[in-house]
Amino acid sequence: MKYLIRNIRLFVIVFAALFALVIAGVVSQSSRARTTWLEAAGENKDALRSRYKTAGKIISADNVILAESDERGQRRYAENRELAQAALHLVGDYTHNISNTLESLWQDRLLGNSRGFLNQLRLDIAGKGLLGDDLLLTVQSDLMIAAHRALSDKKGAIVILNYQTGEVLALVSCPTVDPGNVVEWKNIPDTALFNRALLGRYLPGSTFKIVTSAAFLGQTEIDRGLTVACKGKEPLMPGGVFERYIMKGTHGTVDLEKAFTTSCNHFFGDVGINLGAEALERAAQAFGFNTGLALDRMKMAVSVCDIGHGDLAALSWASIGQAGGADIECVTPMHLAMIAGAVANDGIMRQPFVVDKIRSPLGSVQTPPRSGDTVAVTDRETAEKLAQMMRSVVTSGTGKNANVKGLDIRGKTGTADITDEKGELKTNNLFAGFIADRRTPIAIGVVLEDSASGSAALVAGRLLRLAAGLK
Ligand SMILES: [Zn+2]
Repeated sequence: MKYLIRNIRLFVIVFAALFALVIAGVVSQSSRARTTWLEAAGENKDALRSRYKTAGKIISADNVILAESDERGQRRYAENRELAQAALHLVGDYTHNISNTLESLWQDRLLGNSRGFLNQLRLDIAGKGLLGDDLLLTVQSDLMIAAHRALSDKKGAIVILNYQTGEVLALVSCPTVDPGNVVEWKNIPDTALFNRALLGRYLPGSTFKIVTSAAFLGQTEIDRGLTVACKGKEPLMPGGVFERYIMKGTHGTVDLEKAFTTSCNHFFGDVGINLGAEALERAAQAFGFNTGLALDRMKMAVSVCDIGHGDLAALSWASIGQAGGADIECVTPMHLAMIAGAVANDGIMRQPFVVDKIRSPLGSVQTPPRSGDTVAVTDRETAEKLAQMMRSVVTSGTGKNANVKGLDIRGKTGTADITDEKGELKTNNLFAGFIADRRTPIAIGVVLEDSASGSAALVAGRLLRLAAGLK
């Protein structure tokens, strides 16, 4: 019995000791793992830096380097500081402090990680196996800089594209900052890392009248020759639309063309009510609202048209792109340029892209897989009518600021009243336009936050002039 108790005691002691060792082991294991993990987090930037030592270049269409790794293995961005800032949201940073950029989403190609065996072998034999591929872009450095300057100290975004091919020529958001600040994570202005061009959702304001007009032109129940007597400051109905931007008087009795040119809220409010929310939503959907859009591998926010949740007065506001209450309308600057481009391109919207070619270290060039999708957003006749009305806007209507002698610029203006997070009323200014010339098939979307009426049209005219190669 004595022996038994002794044995049990021994057993308990040994067991307890073992147990303690196991526990200690677990604790030390997990603490070691934690240390390693913390080290990894701390070293992340260095690890990324060394990973990008031999990464490929990112180069604009006019052959200006937007990102490269120098001979010391240091990743550098555009030498021209304005260009580096203008390209920040597109190019990104090797530390991936901004996501949804070329540096992060095309990492496999830039680092050369996704090659086939034979391809890699060929590079290894040539002594270039460690080098990554170059990304050759569609953007033009002069247009990027000009768009950046046009935004200057404002918040907003500008997108310029070729509406026949889908090539993106400029894509700029402001505020922005030097890529070096993003890498070092210091002195970053509020919202400067946000890609407004692709992810900013803005109330479309009167640019939405393109959609309402397309819905009107695409139906047969209401006479196309419909006229409405504008009532100026007097609302269409209690709580309904009125003219906010004419001080006194009215637009008179207007038909579609005159209403579009002068951006008459009474006409479009009336038309929208007669068409109904469903027809408006259908037209918006055809233009790419409520649809997941992308720019190559980069995500775009969905432009939304979800209306008809309120009374007829609310519907009149949604018809002019100023949805409120339970109704939602928003558009991204990129999508705004795509909408203008689709009108210009006989109603066919091209899938935009920004990575034109990928170049291997041996110099062979390949086109990355892309959907190449084209979508018919309206029939040709409707597109022609819209384009014609958009010309009147620029020659004699609300978009006169966009007019440039010698260019056939067309467009639609928008002013959108929003209440910001502090509860203050702000007015965003928008413009969706294009050059109607097959030799310079260029479309533009401009959004200037908290800006005076007519400012977006002015910016668009200047940039389209530059894009067309006029001095
Ligand atoms: Zn009016």
